[in-house]
Amino acid sequence: MRDFTSTEGIPIMRMTFLYEKQATKLYTHDVFRKFVEETQKIPPMVAEFIEVEGSNTTYRVYKYDVNRPQYKVVFNELEITAARTYCLYEHDGILCAHVLKVFYYNSVMLILKHYIMTRWTKEGNKEMVSDGDGVQIKADYKEFQTARYDDLSRAAFKVVSNRSNSETL
Ligand SMILES: [Zn+2]
Repeated sequence: MRDFTSTEGIPIMRMTFLYEKQATKLYTHDVFRKFVEETQKIPPMVAEFIEVEGSNTTYRVYKYDVNRPQYKVVFNELEITAARTYCLYEHDGILCAHVLKVFYYNSVMLILKHYIMTRWTKEGNKEMVSDGDGVQIKADYKEFQTARYDDLSRAAFKVVSNRSNSETL
């Protein structure tokens, strides 16, 4: 409990998700703040089932407001991955609200290992400072991004091929 009180700026009461509690321990302060901006978007969002294809389930995710854009997220129940094309994760390395919504919907209550970037963790940052080995960490990060991107592309492929390339429905 003490750990949570040390997180400046984010009152304990506002941490409603296990993701956030996990993130306070895991991420550097700046990354944590960015992450919480995403988790705070989860409650007003809606995840609507669209279709199942093998182990992939597609959802329509949007804020409950007709003017908001709607996104498609594909959840893979075997690999426990969720992907949305051009998602924040691919750019910043933290899971975005759309993907988190779908994880939550599927009772995946923690940030899974394959979505945690060493670069954004307290541990990763320590290494960078103490070893002065930023190059290696950057290389790992890039490799990880590429591998991830391939996975995401594969997961998104079926949906994209069934529909137009448009992001919104
Ligand atoms: Zn997203």
